[in-house]
Amino acid sequence: MQFAVKAWSNGRARAGVLQLSSCPNSIETPALLLSTMKGLPEFIAPHLLQFLPSPDSHLLQTSPLHFLECPSPKTISSIGGLHQMVGLTEYAFVAAPRDSIQCLPNCEGTNKFGASFETPCGRRLIKPKEYVEMISSMEPDIWASMADEVPAWVSEKRNRTSVDRTVRWLDDCIALNVAGGGAIFGAIVGGSSVEERCRCAQEVVRRNVSGFWIGGFGLGESMEERSALLNAVTDVLPDERPRQVSGLGLPEEILQGVAAGIDLFDSTYIHHLTLGGFALTFQLDGTDNHVSGSQLSEIGSDHTKINLRATVYRKDTSPIVDGCSCYACQNHTRAYINHLLNVHEMLAQILLEIHNTHHYLGFFRLVRAAIKAGEFDQFRQKFIESRRDHLVFAMVSQLQNAEEHGHGAIKPSPKCLRPNGWIELDSGNNEEKKETSRSRSSNFTCHRARLRNGRRSCDDERGVFIIAAWGRYVWMWKAFAPLAISNAITDLCAPETRTPTF
Ligand SMILES: [Zn+2]
Repeated sequence: MQFAVKAWSNGRARAGVLQLSSCPNSIETPALLLSTMKGLPEFIAPHLLQFLPSPDSHLLQTSPLHFLECPSPKTISSIGGLHQMVGLTEYAFVAAPRDSIQCLPNCEGTNKFGASFETPCGRRLIKPKEYVEMISSMEPDIWASMADEVPAWVSEKRNRTSVDRTVRWLDDCIALNVAGGGAIFGAIVGGSSVEERCRCAQEVVRRNVSGFWIGGFGLGESMEERSALLNAVTDVLPDERPRQVSGLGLPEEILQGVAAGIDLFDSTYIHHLTLGGFALTFQLDGTDNHVSGSQLSEIGSDHTKINLRATVYRKDTSPIVDGCSCYACQNHTRAYINHLLNVHEMLAQILLEIHNTHHYLGFFRLVRAAIKAGEFDQFRQKFIESRRDHLVFAMVSQLQNAEEHGHGAIKPSPKCLRPNGWIELDSGNNEEKKETSRSRSSNFTCHRARLRNGRRSCDDERGVFIIAAWGRYVWMWKAFAPLAISNAITDLCAPETRTPTF
């Protein structure tokens, strides 16, 4: 692996070039890693990958956790590794000890022997030896060492322990990786403590690693504190090695990461959009698509994305985005995708994932261009303001719709939830325990926001919001403005769209 920074903008934002032996062409950073299930994007077959922009789409995120049940490391190894197994020899795999789609870290089950995860096959404890064995069989181009990821609200003591364990496991992973395959990224954690993040970064920098994997984000921290945490880490890291972050996915979060000097992002945003029937539509040419109030009453759209399940698209014969060069937009219409969604044809998800990936890679291209032009801050500010306006306008229109139809108190449907982060119900600091003990008994509580018996309520003091409680977890929405937060809740509760925005 070779990496070089080519341009800087506004202090920390940087554009670079990553060269991996599996990829014939070098990949420009900041770059998006496409999330995969067992080596492939969930809805895109290998032969359809050619329809995505190249070489931007040649970085694939994977996780050994996908292969806990089968096939065994021995089988994968005898096939010749992940590249041979899925037949993608010109694509680079980046493995991390986290899978944001299915396997969530379980900090309570983690102990000194290994990290615990909630997986589809139950709670599993993964030890460094087992982890390195799986990595060795998969032969990814880049892999991150094991981490003890903890949510933002754990005690200082637990946070310190997580850093100590993560650093020790990094030493274990380096020692166990006798074959020396793939570039190792040292895991950096530290929860919501700037001091612990710094300490972890300083320890990892001393080790023989090719880059850095920053974990522990998307686990309950607020947008406001995240910038300080990211900056504290990247300040310590050497410029010449790449940095990857997990848990940041929304465009605003990507921009926040880029502003802190992150190069690689593994995000499940596209996956969740596609599952919800959403297609990205925000402008990629830098122009502002200002819309009038009457247009905003359009159901299923907030003008940064559209929900193609909405009946308004049933007779819409236009492509998802006019002028988009993706396979879906070149060959199909909104009406057809709406039909496919209605009849539960998987082709709908295939077309949506192609478009959404195409569109999001275009967004990354714009980010790189802004950095190269030295105008990243201006780009970021313009983009966020434009998107926030659209979300707020859409919220107002949707609230009006909900009121007109008397849908103010409709219960959310858990099956349509798409999480942006999660919080474990049994956790929380002592202050909050006292404050919320009564609502805790009803199993719906977290921070200062509450959702009782399926009904919505809110407190936007920290910009952190619960939209629903589901089983042992509370799914939450992080937003920039109270109105945008309400938008998320309204979307969740409005029967017209069925699926929340995020
Ligand atoms: Zn398209």
